[in-house]
Amino acid sequence: DDLLDTTAARRWIDTFVERFRSAREELTDLDRRSGDGDFGTNVDTALDRVAAALEKARPAGPGEVFGAVSRAFLHTGGTSGPLFGMWFRELSHALAGGPSAGTGALAAGVAEGTAAVRRLGGAAVGDKTMVDALVPAAEALRAAAGEGLGVAAGLRRAARAARAGAESTRGLRARRGRASYVGEAAQDVLDPGAVLVALFFEAAGTGHG
Ligand code: ADP
Ligand code: MG
Ligand code: MG
Repeated sequence: DDLLDTTAARRWIDTFVERFRSAREELTDLDRRSGDGDFGTNVDTALDRVAAALEKARPAGPGEVFGAVSRAFLHTGGTSGPLFGMWFRELSHALAGGPSAGTGALAAGVAEGTAAVRRLGGAAVGDKTMVDALVPAAEALRAAAGEGLGVAAGLRRAARAARAGAESTRGLRARRGRASYVGEAAQDVLDPGAVLVALFFEAAGTGHG
């Protein structure tokens, strides 16, 4: 019975919000050095809306939990808002209707969300964006599903892959987004969007499995 149900999805998001808040200044600093310094504020605005929406909505199923996250990001400014919004929207749709989700459904949702981000933003792996963490996380989940692993084990793998992907942005010159204007000067700076993706998957590791 290693599935992601509503309670586990809400706990995942609550933990994600906490982890983000502790890392907020660090993420803002990364965006200050490579972009315009509003990343922490953009994400904070979205996550405030998530907390408010989840309190009112009484979501039935993990798809509805991620749907609330999607709407909050879609209504937020910055480049990251619509991209994370579309990512969570695909994840939400893949899990729609069910009271709980297994590794296969999660893997499909994460893959579709990542494809949507790539379509919208045009970034490939190595361009120093959130895509550098999303693609390995999606691949890790797909492999875990193929091996028949449960949700907890699959998400642990996704978290390790996303963190490695985020770390891989150090030393890269950005080819997409505002950071591409800064170029070489920000080469040693981690991409904040990719770091947020790692925080998201790592937040799943607490509370189930
Ligand atoms: P802005 O640059 O508009 O201020 P944010 O600060 O909200 O946007 O978000 C910056 C993050 O958005 C970057 O760290 C990167 O991960 C992500 N990003 C920027 N451009 C793209 C793109 N074309 N594709 C995917 N992700 C992108
Ligand atoms: Mg910014
Ligand atoms: Mg901005």
